Amino acid sequence: MKYIVWFKELDKNSIPIAGGKGANLGEMYNLGLPIPPGFCITAQTYKKFIEEAGIKIKINNLLKNLDINNTAKLQQTAEEVQKLIVSTKISSDIEEAIKHAYEILGSDVRKASELIDSKETFVAVRSSATAEDLPEASFAGQQATFLNVKGKTEVVKAVRDCWASLFTARAIYYRQKNKFPHDKVLISAIIQVMVNSEQSGVMFTVNPATNNPAEIVIEAIYGLGEYVVGGKVNPNLYLVDKKTRTIKTAEIKKQEVGLFRDEKGNNLERSIPAHQQKQQVIPDTIIKELARYGQKIETHYGQPQDIEWAVEKGQIYIVQSRAVTTFKENKPREEAVLEKGQIILHGDTAASGIYSGKVKIILSPEELNKISAGDILVAPMTTPDWVPAMQKAGAIITDEGGLTCHAAIVSREMGTPCIVGTEQGTKILKDGQLITVDASKGVVYQGKVEIVQKKKAASAVNVANLKTRTKIKVILDLPEIAGKAAASGADGVGLVRSEIMIASGGIHPAEYIRQGKPEAYVKLLKSGIGRIAKAFKDKPVWVRCSDMRSDEYRNLQGGSKEPKETDPMIGWHGIRRLLDEPEILRAEFTAIRELHYEGLKNIGVMLPFVIRVEEVQKAKAIMREVGLEPVKAIDFGVMIETPAACWIIEELCKEGISFVSFGTNDLTQLTLGIDRNNQKIAPLFDELHPAVLGEMAKVIKVCRKFNVPTSICGQAGSKLEMARFLVHQGIDSISANIDALDAIRQVVADTEKKVYHGKRF
Ligand code: PEP
Ligand code: MG
Repeated sequence: MKYIVWFKELDKNSIPIAGGKGANLGEMYNLGLPIPPGFCITAQTYKKFIEEAGIKIKINNLLKNLDINNTAKLQQTAEEVQKLIVSTKISSDIEEAIKHAYEILGSDVRKASELIDSKETFVAVRSSATAEDLPEASFAGQQATFLNVKGKTEVVKAVRDCWASLFTARAIYYRQKNKFPHDKVLISAIIQVMVNSEQSGVMFTVNPATNNPAEIVIEAIYGLGEYVVGGKVNPNLYLVDKKTRTIKTAEIKKQEVGLFRDEKGNNLERSIPAHQQKQQVIPDTIIKELARYGQKIETHYGQPQDIEWAVEKGQIYIVQSRAVTTFKENKPREEAVLEKGQIILHGDTAASGIYSGKVKIILSPEELNKISAGDILVAPMTTPDWVPAMQKAGAIITDEGGLTCHAAIVSREMGTPCIVGTEQGTKILKDGQLITVDASKGVVYQGKVEIVQKKKAASAVNVANLKTRTKIKVILDLPEIAGKAAASGADGVGLVRSEIMIASGGIHPAEYIRQGKPEAYVKLLKSGIGRIAKAFKDKPVWVRCSDMRSDEYRNLQGGSKEPKETDPMIGWHGIRRLLDEPEILRAEFTAIRELHYEGLKNIGVMLPFVIRVEEVQKAKAIMREVGLEPVKAIDFGVMIETPAACWIIEELCKEGISFVSFGTNDLTQLTLGIDRNNQKIAPLFDELHPAVLGEMAKVIKVCRKFNVPTSICGQAGSKLEMARFLVHQGIDSISANIDALDAIRQVVADTEKKVYHGKRF
């Protein structure tokens, strides 16, 4: 169980661990917004605390039969429960985890350098409530926030105070009134660096006075935001055209005093120097930058936003953002409507989407024929040879698997809602049972549940038209969706996993060779690859030679002859296997050579799982044998997915290759020693681990020296933070899943502006 989760690990699906506020902060962080850094102490930590300390039962007893309409009694009980919590010791492992994370936050000078003025960082400790087993419930504003907290011991104390605030009289009243069981509501504490605001204010992405959606309104004052919200001073008011970001009007008001934080963390009122009192509080550049963030947040959430912002040393921070539904009668959040429906299973979102249908449990590949179109496929795990059955399914649920397992990869591409890592899906669900899968949230409901999906507002800019130096490519394994993928405007295909088309042919590559029918294998590959290459016309399509793990294709004809390996992930697959059975590789190269000769010159090849230069040399020799000169006639690249490949990168470059492409799924697995398919350790699988990033930075540096283009085709290429990192390193292309292309293109364009200082491409 994780006590601490950093913002970068959170997103909108993280409500069960970080509450609404924490999930929102994670989502904004990953969207590339400048939010002050921080982490959350998971809701499960709170649960563990009350359970282990034995106070859960005591709390329940105090609340049992409470008459909430008896105000005095309600108040007294609330105080008793809170006292019980704040007087209970937090176990030392939780306490240490909080202190440690706080220390890391303080020393993370890379991100926080501008914010941290001494060793002890000022943080805000906020509450973020979450309703266990309830799809959506907003308890915002009911629990405590502690500002300007400094020092490890104080932070731990504030966390416990946050937990206690789950039982204010108001919160107890609200829950009981709305029939929420108290023990189903958990709380996550969020620790976030405090911005020492020199200027601050609020921004509305729709003009609140006129409801005009084409205008953004920004209010700004000197000092901390409390004086804007409290109405103590008159803020500057800027009206910005949302589309062009021109400042239509700037109303400057005189500001004589402001609220500022002193060294000890006290907020003190100070006079504003006379020469500043009538000046525009923030320069035009910051106004426009703020408007850009405002528009970005609104586009992302598909709703107008009310945003709190701050500026410290010229750097903008987005402090909070809320959806504004009605301007005129700003309804209190307590009136949020709850979706009905009982959640019966949780897992990780592999491919988002919502689907209701009947369960079909498949425990082994022999049962695959049981699947009818529209069924919900529930299995311990799927392998790529299940693709035809997966294509029939309306949704997919697996017990095992992380976000880079093949079930996740394939369903994402097919656009089939998929939840992986439920641990017990095959046990809890029953054949024929009607369920609703809300894969976007990683939950399964009993029965058919109506889930209202927020409509995404059309983006004001056509992202596909953004010109970037870094090429944005798509990952494409299913030839059937080549047309759709090409229409996305991607700059090419950064990875075609040939295994997926092989699986749909039903015969194992080794079996074609055993039966003396390599031409049938060539034909199959030509058909799939040809379809993709044609759809992309002149744009490059990089096809990976088959990378078949011995456990994943046993269901294909001849698959049972594959060796039984203890660790197929690090076993006989990729280039090492192809060189042991060069007839397979020869057939694959032949297919590509024939397509090349037929005029599809945009196809390139790449070798999987390389660990030695000799492997590249041997593969090149086979390509020459079939009649193509590697590198010269055709792009010939190497996947960087083993630490070994990172260490020998200089030799690989010297050998002569057309490009390298990071396979971060394997690279992370091998660098961190974490089986990517193992659900138990999935939370530890982190492509942004410094060790992985360090390897990638090194490889890009060396490749740039040798003029070898660099690319990424692992799942992490669809992560905003990874894209940002790679643009900073100077990567040449990024491949993402089709549904992530726009977001990646946008973040690449934004990052390039910083890295290449507004140069046009
Ligand atoms: C990778 O390892 O990142 C990769 C792209 O290959 P696969 O997911 O097929 O192992
Ligand atoms: Mg791989």
